[in-house]
Amino acid sequence: MELTFAIIKPDAVKSRDTGRILQRIEDEGFQIRAMRMRHISQSEAEGFYAVHHERPFFASLTAFMSSGPCVVLALEAPDAIRKWRTLMGATDPAKADAGTLRKEFGASIENNATHGSDAPDTAAFELGYFFPGIELAR
Ligand code: ATP
Ligand code: MG
Repeated sequence: MELTFAIIKPDAVKSRDTGRILQRIEDEGFQIRAMRMRHISQSEAEGFYAVHHERPFFASLTAFMSSGPCVVLALEAPDAIRKWRTLMGATDPAKADAGTLRKEFGASIENNATHGSDAPDTAAFELGYFFPGIELAR
């Protein structure tokens, strides 16, 4: 079993797609291990996305991520990190495969509905950022 960190981003919460995305998460076989609705501040978003701080879209991305409430999740499944990224689809919804969450719920490369950790080290950092003290294995 593996844990990954996921976000239902502010665009998808605002468009009232939270329930549909949670249903897809459960239908695809993930166990929801932790979940919380949070309206994060821009400085929390900057800390979370620190790896991107040199990217041209950093200011816009962190403003978007703090623009309204989001839902933060710890998801468990075999191979959860890769499995969740596959379910989300490509970063740009226009390039995402049919049936993926970003294809269905994303509007643009920035407003792309969901986030997912991309590797075990980033999953550990991101889970700890939003769920301090969470058990990473059991
Ligand atoms: P995430 O980390 O959110 O799961 P990702 O790993 O697919 O997405 P990253 O390259 O890590 O993509 O980019 C982080 C986020 O920054 C993207 O999900 C998107 O919201 C935003 N982003 C990425 N590229 C661009 C861009 N060219 N213009 C605007 N926003 C972007
Ligand atoms: Mg990423």
